[in-house]
Amino acid sequence: MKQENVVKKVYTYFLSEGFKKHRMFFAVRILKALLQSAQPFLSICFIPAIIAEMMNEADGVRLAQLAGTMVLLEFVFSAANGTLGNIIERYAQSFENHFSLILSERIMELDFQLTEDKKALDQLELARNGMSWYSGGMNGLMEPFFTFLSAVITLFGVVVLLVVNAPVVLLISALIVALSAVVNSKLNKIEQEGYRRLSKINRIFGYLGWGLVDFRFGMTIRLYGSKDMMIEKWSRFTEDWNRENVDIANKQLPLQLMRDGARIVHDMAVYFYLGALAILGRITVATTVQMITAASTFTNSLQTIITCYQDMLKKVNYANEYVKFMEYPPAMPKGSRKVTEGKHVFEFKNLSFAYPGSEVQVLKNVNLTIREGEHLSVVGLNGAGKTTLVKLLCRLYDPTEGEIRMDGINIKEYDYNEYMKVFAPVFQDFKLFAFTIRENLLLKDTGEMDMAVEDPLARDTLRKIGMEEKVDSFKNGIDTVLFKQFDADGIEPSGGEQQKLAIARALIKDAPVVILDEPTAALDPIAEYEIYKHFEELVKGKTAIYISHRLSSCQFCDRIAVFAEGCVKEYGTHKELVNLPNGIYAEMFAAQAQYYVNK
Ligand code: ADP
Repeated sequence: MKQENVVKKVYTYFLSEGFKKHRMFFAVRILKALLQSAQPFLSICFIPAIIAEMMNEADGVRLAQLAGTMVLLEFVFSAANGTLGNIIERYAQSFENHFSLILSERIMELDFQLTEDKKALDQLELARNGMSWYSGGMNGLMEPFFTFLSAVITLFGVVVLLVVNAPVVLLISALIVALSAVVNSKLNKIEQEGYRRLSKINRIFGYLGWGLVDFRFGMTIRLYGSKDMMIEKWSRFTEDWNRENVDIANKQLPLQLMRDGARIVHDMAVYFYLGALAILGRITVATTVQMITAASTFTNSLQTIITCYQDMLKKVNYANEYVKFMEYPPAMPKGSRKVTEGKHVFEFKNLSFAYPGSEVQVLKNVNLTIREGEHLSVVGLNGAGKTTLVKLLCRLYDPTEGEIRMDGINIKEYDYNEYMKVFAPVFQDFKLFAFTIRENLLLKDTGEMDMAVEDPLARDTLRKIGMEEKVDSFKNGIDTVLFKQFDADGIEPSGGEQQKLAIARALIKDAPVVILDEPTAALDPIAEYEIYKHFEELVKGKTAIYISHRLSSCQFCDRIAVFAEGCVKEYGTHKELVNLPNGIYAEMFAAQAQYYVNK
């Protein structure tokens, strides 16, 4: 995309978002820009006037008046500038929070399959860093814009002064500014190239820095003594990070020296020229001083205009990474068809699937129907594709070939959010939050709940899954916080208790289709059998899909689909399959029968 278009796109995005949030911010910013543009004229007007007064047999009173007014005005300008700066800082903080929040919202709404997509993850990292450190966020983007504006106003004033009194100075100053502009643009390019390279290192750094202090890794780190490996990796990436930064600094140094040297040459030329004019008697001492100040204001303003423009482009490019992430193309098409209430029929039609970025077909030409209210057990060895099948059903991914239909219609045609409401899945890697049990079950912030009011639904469900007594034994009952990250009184539920809470959460969602994907894997076959037995009563009347490589669930189910190598190898009732000669199910059942006999 052309640079002008990027500037337009980024400013349109941030101005419209900014306007929605804080209109007053822009009024304050404009006022500050006007003040900033007027401030240099205090010295340009007052200092020569004071010098002229001193040279003409100074009138003490007049001199004091001039100096006093100048100091007073300087004070007023500084105080106003400081106050406005303070207000702007507060807005900047609020904007920072706002843009972080909408980024988080976007991450949570992102198509699931993008959460494993390296390009999307890199873009997220670029967005996060680009928006914070590098562009300075909303205020960072507006700062160069408004400073640019005030410098243009100042420049206009001093150009008039210089054209009238010393046009050559204009030429000298313009040359130096042009040189600085070229140098600055090179400096920015070096910084931006470095930033792209640093983005990957930062992501790995983030994983090592934050991910590994995460309690979840704690056990593996201790039991397998992998601390040294982590520290070594950390050190290696620190070295890479330092090397990259030193490389950037080394490339920038000669250019910075050149820019500073040119500035000195410029000052010397201006002094020399104006000094000569004064000696020749062509201008007065007061005008000489005024022109020196004007020349310096001219270079400063022009410099400011150019650096602001370049700064604006640089920040726009960083902030564009944020906008790009916010507008990241969806990974899957989303329809608008309404989902009808009640139970549904699902059909997998010639469905094949390979995970994004992989050639391996995990599911191959699967044909399967799940009838209204049916309880289906999907069994097979690990890696057979069972979880993948339900992830496709839940539209976390779309099939590579074939389709899935709900009530005869391709699921892609349904409104995505409505379709999501159809399922209450509990996957193997379910997650509970470090919030209260009540919040985990109802998925509502307790800030919005009346804590004095009991939640009959939550309590009833806890009772049904056999967790009521346990929860009541905690000091804060249902309002006990899970885990100890944020609360010393937090509890660490056992694996089995966590599974029960996750199952309770799924039941409370009250969706017509419940999916249990081996959430009981941590339990022994008998405990697993007990849970399924109990669970059957809880999901009566709903469609239920149980996934297991053990067979505890099968005896309660209407039908069983046996998966192997990505295909449905056997399909039928328990009775049918167990009697199939040389059947996979019959063989698995015989092997596991010891657990289930006499049940
Ligand atoms: P099951 O539930 O039967 O144990 P899965 O559906 O989890 O099997 O996995 C089937 C195959 O797909 C496995 O070989 C697994 O390694 C692969 N797989 C699972 N998830 C992903 C993923 N996100 N990306 C790539 N391959 C995956």
